[in-house]
Amino acid sequence: MNELLYEVGKVTFLLGILNNLRYFLVAGIPFLVFYIFYTKKFQILKIQLKEARKSDFLREIKYSLLSGFITAFIVAFLLRTSLKNNSLIYSDLNEYPIYWLFISYALAILFHDTWFYWLHRLFHIPWIYKHVHNVHHLSVNPSPWTSFSFHFFEAIGEGLVIIPLAFLVPLHPYTLIFFGFTIFAINVYGHLGYEIAPKWFRQSFLFELINTSVHHNLHHSKFKGNYGLYFRIWDRLMGTENKEYVEEFERIQARRHTNEYLDININNKA
Ligand SMILES: [Zn+2]
Ligand SMILES: [Zn+2]
Repeated sequence: MNELLYEVGKVTFLLGILNNLRYFLVAGIPFLVFYIFYTKKFQILKIQLKEARKSDFLREIKYSLLSGFITAFIVAFLLRTSLKNNSLIYSDLNEYPIYWLFISYALAILFHDTWFYWLHRLFHIPWIYKHVHNVHHLSVNPSPWTSFSFHFFEAIGEGLVIIPLAFLVPLHPYTLIFFGFTIFAINVYGHLGYEIAPKWFRQSFLFELINTSVHHNLHHSKFKGNYGLYFRIWDRLMGTENKEYVEEFERIQARRHTNEYLDININNKA
């Protein structure tokens, strides 16, 4: 028993450090680019024109680091107890065809999107919102640091997704690593505070399915609606998408392209 505790503790510590290094990398680089070095250059991509509050950053980093260790504990518990042997996690690449790595990754994303949407709806029940989810919503104008700024119980709820997933879908550690990076990337994009989707994206069918930074930013500025993480599907099915989303996305894109047009003209005349 003591040995097991030691083993889970050790893996929690190591994975926690790795998670948080990844947080500083995946959230820190966009933060340096958009908020420190090229703020003026990217101003036309800003979703909310007011600046994100500096007082938010420290709180967000503190809660995100805690979330990093909580997720690490859940993964350590899964990998170092008998749960792993009963789960569908496999380490021999020959056990499934190579293409299964991609299929299992897609299934993991779909499962996580569903988990996130319904958990998020649960966190918006007034009593739970007030005592738990409010921590995340203190950031009305989010920045990359907001990505994992969760209350202790919210971080547990988010991290627990890995347990049912490991029992439903055969997953190789490569898939898990890539899945982990995707979670970081989508969270940082959703909280970036800048819309970086290219112009063609609005006309593509992908716009009908995939969330954008404007989508989640509206959730933070309006406090309700737009509960999805990767896709618009659940929000559209359940009628919880902010009615002004498409208009808002178009308004922000139009602003960007009008400014680009003006810049080009000014530069040509100079
Ligand atoms: Zn929320
Ligand atoms: Zn958020």
